[in-house]
Amino acid sequence: MSKWVYLFTEGNANMRELLGGKGANLAEMTNLGLPVPQGFTITTEACTQYYEDGKQINDEIIGQIKDYMKKLEEITGKKFGDKENPLLVSVRSGARASMPGMMDTILNLGLNEDVVEAIAAKSGNPRWAWDCYRRFIQMFSDVVMEVGKKYFETLIDKMKADRGVKQDVDLNADDLKELANQFKAEYKKQLGQDFPEDPETQLIEAVKAVFRSWDNPRANVYRRDNDIPYSWGTAVNVQEMVFGNMGESSGSGVAFTRDPATGENKFYAEVLMNAQGEDVVAGVRTPMKIDAIKEKLPKIYDQLLSIANTLEDHYRDMQDMEFTIEEGKLFMLQTRNGKRTAKAALKIANDLVKEGKIDKKKAVLDVEPRNLDTLLHGSFVKSELDKAELIGKGLPAAPGAASGKIVFTAEDAKEAAADGEKVVLVRLETSPEDIEGMKAAQGILTARGGMTSHAAVVARGMGSCCVAGCSAIEMDEANRTFKLGGHTYSEGDVISFDGSTGNIYDGPLDVQEGSIDDEDFATIMEWADEFRTMQVRTNADTPEDAAKAVELGAEGIGLCRTEHMFFQGDRIDAFREMICSDTVEEREEALDKILPLQQGDFEKLFETLAGRPVTIRFLDPPLHEFVPTTEEEIQKVADAKGKTVEQIKAIISSLHEFNPMMGHRGCRLTVTYPEIGVMQTKAVIRAALNVQKAHPEWTIVPEIMIPLVGEVKEMKFVKDIVVKTADAELKAAGSDMQYKVGTMIEIPRACLTADEIAKEAEFFCFGTNDLTQMTFGFSRDDAGKFLSSYYDHKIYENDPFSRLDQDGVGQLMKMAVKKGKETRADLHCGICGEHGGDPTSVEFCNSLGLDYVSCSPFRVPIARLAAAQAAIKQNA
Ligand code: PEP
Ligand code: MG
Repeated sequence: MSKWVYLFTEGNANMRELLGGKGANLAEMTNLGLPVPQGFTITTEACTQYYEDGKQINDEIIGQIKDYMKKLEEITGKKFGDKENPLLVSVRSGARASMPGMMDTILNLGLNEDVVEAIAAKSGNPRWAWDCYRRFIQMFSDVVMEVGKKYFETLIDKMKADRGVKQDVDLNADDLKELANQFKAEYKKQLGQDFPEDPETQLIEAVKAVFRSWDNPRANVYRRDNDIPYSWGTAVNVQEMVFGNMGESSGSGVAFTRDPATGENKFYAEVLMNAQGEDVVAGVRTPMKIDAIKEKLPKIYDQLLSIANTLEDHYRDMQDMEFTIEEGKLFMLQTRNGKRTAKAALKIANDLVKEGKIDKKKAVLDVEPRNLDTLLHGSFVKSELDKAELIGKGLPAAPGAASGKIVFTAEDAKEAAADGEKVVLVRLETSPEDIEGMKAAQGILTARGGMTSHAAVVARGMGSCCVAGCSAIEMDEANRTFKLGGHTYSEGDVISFDGSTGNIYDGPLDVQEGSIDDEDFATIMEWADEFRTMQVRTNADTPEDAAKAVELGAEGIGLCRTEHMFFQGDRIDAFREMICSDTVEEREEALDKILPLQQGDFEKLFETLAGRPVTIRFLDPPLHEFVPTTEEEIQKVADAKGKTVEQIKAIISSLHEFNPMMGHRGCRLTVTYPEIGVMQTKAVIRAALNVQKAHPEWTIVPEIMIPLVGEVKEMKFVKDIVVKTADAELKAAGSDMQYKVGTMIEIPRACLTADEIAKEAEFFCFGTNDLTQMTFGFSRDDAGKFLSSYYDHKIYENDPFSRLDQDGVGQLMKMAVKKGKETRADLHCGICGEHGGDPTSVEFCNSLGLDYVSCSPFRVPIARLAAAQAAIKQNA
């Protein structure tokens, strides 16, 4: 028989795979002797089993849950469903990796009509008893039975209006009792059955609901964004309730050992008195801040601070904790390594090293590479900011600058963003269902909530700009307007806000590029560079992009897509003239126009890279992207070539391909039109010679890369053209400059025959965009149309074009490296597909022994850090 359930006393922090993060840490805190209400954890394996059994909890697991409930009764001295001394529990999710707010929680479970009456009488606090019961009905209905929250919220609002009060806490025991009855009636109306009275039924249904919530849409989106496999499942924690809603000496709160926004070593906590945890997270009332806690609850403050220090020292990382105060007594409900901004992550890692708590390796491992993106986020142009009208201020919840048209729902944000509109999402408060809209918006502004409200936590994690808790906003969500700073704003009006200051401005403001001018960033990057073994290059086609990449630490160009050099201005005309040629002479004439343009571009790249390696990939234009399409364009080409419009149209129609992605592109172009290869070789070599001459202090070794090779003879054919042309150029110049000719590996056949190809290719660079396309057999341009169904059916968990498919494409790469090195032991291997900037894919590349990854300029720091982490983990 498997063991599906563990008491907190049976676990520890190393068991997070089995117990989830929350369960493992509750066990660890128990072991540390901290005040943790006791309970048990139903394992992640039970969750996986639940799905394997067709979304059923099998009898063995149910049996163990019941047994452990008995054990919990013994530990607490209370009894589940008992009128005298009832045990009430919370039921919470807890995956291996923390997924804040993505899954479900049920509090106050175990209550029924009899128990609530009993505790109301016995506690002398009927208001508390009925508050618990109405919350339980509300949560159970919403989470377990999926009756919408709105019915209950409407009833609460009506009750508050009838009683003439503003806050939930102003409702008295009788009001809450009446509400509980109204809720039960609503439950029956919605579901046609009575609210369950039996605590065991409530428990099993709640556990099922938490397992089910692993598969809810927001959890699925979160997992995709954060690389959390579906197969992990969530654990369920069943824990004795402690009550923050017992009156003014009770409360619920959250604390951070350091500031999660700036990283400052400053204890941070907030408490909402007479409330349960959900109220804090939802941000419904604005909580009491640290100074007030210190002043009004000095004992709690001291105890909390001491626990925080213990936990930070124990975990050697910034902790994010949840706690409850029950009638003046403190209980810890959770601790975890806190989510943080990139700025905070860098500062905390650095400070912990300075404080002697961690070493450099751990510091490098502690910074989430993807998080660095946020450092590169924009801010407002200072001169504009000085002139802008400040209309309000909220909490600076997540850095960045947002400017856009106001929308009031996540749905609208998603739609508008899909249409290419810049929008900002303005809400009273956000809830986890809003995640997709929050992601689509430029920023999120909320009227309610603190630094730890859902909006703040999620936005920080996503790297989106967020200003939270701007209580000056007078919101009218129904009419989609709000008042702030003397203005009334409606949907479509434009505002701007700054997630680093909390300032909100009227009208649009220009957002300027972010900066990494930060000492902590420089230090961590320096350490990362010490540990990583792979080089990081960049994919850049313009000197500006290349310069940015070098500034961000790129050590060379891994991919210059020469066809991209024709996108701008009137260059496309020359390119079209080349495509629309029907004789060699005509094509050579067009190529003569292109040659100086290419040479000039390459010179600038060589100059920008100052002697670092530059890999120039020969033309690989899917022709349909370049052929003239409008009458005007066709006329222009006809005029330039002295042909009729009909003649050009005839050429265009002869160029038509049914599947251009698998068509006449890459090395196939030079096979059919060798003059293209000749022109490009001349351009590369002449540019390199000129720059070498101007800068004798550099050693320039141009790398020419042939795309879309699938056969060694094809590689040899093109290489021979390159070598003949290059050698003639070098001879004419009297130069002994070295150059290399290599290939992209982006066709499965190239992997299968890599030993042969390596006879001709001096280096391999994996073009995993095409390799993914060709391995899966679906188009990189069209896959988006059907991938969402694949996610829905769990056929794929991620887009294989952004995260490398290690099981398929990755295996081909592995084979290619092995076979290639059998032929050429020192074969230099890299990757330049989009995956080169994706941290998990970078880690995989490290395991393959690649020499470098190449990615877009803004991802260079991410790749540097990811490569360092991969090296550290691989050597551990
Ligand atoms: C690739 O296919 O991965 C690649 C880098 O080339 P491109 O995206 O230009 O086809
Ligand atoms: Mg390609």
